[in-house]
Amino acid sequence: MNDARTSLIGLSTHDLAQLPVLKGQPRFRVRQIASWVYGRGVGDFEEMTDLPKALRASLAESGCLARPTLLERADSSDGSTTKFLLGLSDGQRIEAVLMQTERRDTICVSTQVGCAYGCKFCATGAMGWKRNLTPHEIVSQPLIGRDELLSRGGSGSFNLVFMGMGEPLANYANLVKSIEVLHEDHGMAVGRRRMTVSTVGLVPEILKLAREPVTVRLAISLNATENETRSKLMPVNRRFPLEKLVPAVREYGEATGQRVTFEYVLLRGINDTPSDADRLASLTRRAACTVNLIVFNAHPLSTHTPSSPARVKAFHDRLLPIAPTVTLRESKGADIRAACGQLSTAYEESAEE
Ligand code: SF4
Repeated sequence: MNDARTSLIGLSTHDLAQLPVLKGQPRFRVRQIASWVYGRGVGDFEEMTDLPKALRASLAESGCLARPTLLERADSSDGSTTKFLLGLSDGQRIEAVLMQTERRDTICVSTQVGCAYGCKFCATGAMGWKRNLTPHEIVSQPLIGRDELLSRGGSGSFNLVFMGMGEPLANYANLVKSIEVLHEDHGMAVGRRRMTVSTVGLVPEILKLAREPVTVRLAISLNATENETRSKLMPVNRRFPLEKLVPAVREYGEATGQRVTFEYVLLRGINDTPSDADRLASLTRRAACTVNLIVFNAHPLSTHTPSSPARVKAFHDRLLPIAPTVTLRESKGADIRAACGQLSTAYEESAEE
C-alpha cells in the first residue's frame, strides 16, 4: 500500500510546527500533539482529546501514527529479556530488545537493517548492510518497548542503548535526529545521560557527536588492544587504528564531560591473556575511560567461542587494580538470541530457506 500520509513519529516539535496542517496553529497545540505522540504514545488521533475535533480529523487525513509491525516476540526463560522482531513497511525486519534488572529497565534499539562493518564476532555483521533506519523507525522502537514496560506496571522510564543491529554512527543524521526527538521535554524526555551510543569507532563521527546540542553517553566496542588483532576482529580498525581512536575517545570525554566506556568482549584464545589485560588498562588510562567486560555469547554465525569462566575471572581480577573502573556485564537473553552480538534476522531467514 502506498500511504502518502506523513508519519508523525520521528518528527521533533520544530518539524511538527512546519507541517501544513499545523501552520497557523498556536505553539501549545504542537506541544500537545508531541505529548500525545511521544509522552503517551497514542495510536489514534481520536485519542487526542484536548485537540479540537476538526484538527483531529485534518491530522488523521494527512498524518499517521503507525509503527513497525510486531511480527514476533520472544521472552527469555528468566523473564529478564524480551526480543521484538519488527516488520518495516518495505518488508525488511529489525530487532529491538527490552532488558529488565532490579536496578533499571533498558531498551536496546537498532539503527540499520544489517550492518556493513563485518565484525567477526557479530551476528548482525554476518547479514551485510541493507539500509539505514529512518528516525520514524528508530524512535518507534523505544515507544514499543515502553508500552511493554507500562503493561507490566512499570513507570515507563528507561535507559536507551543504541546497540542493536547496525553501526549507529554510520547512520549519523538519523541517529542525531532520533536523539533530539527522544530528548525533547514535550515528548519522551529521555535524559542525555540515559542514552548510550555504541560504536566500532568511526573517528570523524565521534568528534562530530561531541559537538551536538544533545550529547549522550558513548561506548566504544574495543575488543582488542593491538591493531593486528583488532583489525582481524573488526576490519574498521584498518581505517581508524587505535592511535587515532584513543585520542578521539579522550576528546569526546573532555568535550562532553562524560566518561566513555570501552566494551570488551572476551573471546577464547583471542584477547583474553594477562598481557591483553595489561594493555587494556593502559589504553583505558590514556583515554580516561571505564571498561565493561562482556562474556561472548556464542551463535552459529561466528566461529569464535567464549573465554572460560576461569579466564574471565583471571582477566577481571588482573584488570581491576590497574584500570580506573571495570565492570563485568551479565549476559541477558542469550537463550532467545537477544544478547550482545547475537541480533540478526538471518537466523530466521536461514531457517525459512
Ligand atoms: Fe556492525 Fe556493530 Fe556488529 Fe560490528 S558489532 S558488525 S558495527 S552491528
